[in-house]
Amino acid sequence: MKNIVLFGAPGSGKGTQAARLKEKYGLVHLSTGDMLRAEIAKKSDLGKQVESIMAQGKLVSDELVLAIIRERLEKRGASAKGFIFDGFPRTLVQAEGFDGLLNGLGLSLSVVLQLDVPESELLERLQRRANIQSRADDKDPAVLKQRIAVYNEETAPVASYYDKQGLFKRVDGTGTLDEIAARVSDVVESLA
Ligand code: AMP
Repeated sequence: MKNIVLFGAPGSGKGTQAARLKEKYGLVHLSTGDMLRAEIAKKSDLGKQVESIMAQGKLVSDELVLAIIRERLEKRGASAKGFIFDGFPRTLVQAEGFDGLLNGLGLSLSVVLQLDVPESELLERLQRRANIQSRADDKDPAVLKQRIAVYNEETAPVASYYDKQGLFKRVDGTGTLDEIAARVSDVVESLA
């Protein structure tokens, strides 16, 4: 089983590369952002709870995110070939909770793979995406900056948590989609 965390700032290409990995290796793609947006679209209680937090570019609570990941993992568990976690974990509390969750299910991570993209390019990409997809949190430049700041403050420290476990790898996230996908595949194929 290959369980991969795709790590990186907003706009680093996690969703795009996750879709490619899903296709190529038959892994289950779990994007917490997509799951939360689906709840908002359904107008569920959970969706109502997170809508304004997401619109401000802040993180929703660790408990809530851990609960939705737990539910998905319990549903698919060992029957899957593996999982791609996209946009999760985003805080140290999530990373620690995730370890407990994986252990409890007899699962473990294969790699935490960061897509490395310079900040100037992130902003350009997110602004471009705002014109293509209708994501409310991409449209306002102040919210974009907030999301990058949250990443630097709360999410970037998660890298050293996994580095200490020998799980962290970084690939160059610039260039064409095919070039980036080839770098990602090289790492995935090197996994046991
Ligand atoms: P994303 O699609 O991954 O960029 O996520 C969009 C928004 O959903 C984020 O700005 C957060 O408000 C929320 N979100 C997604 N994943 C998480 C997470 N793991 N922890 C907290 N908030 C999250």
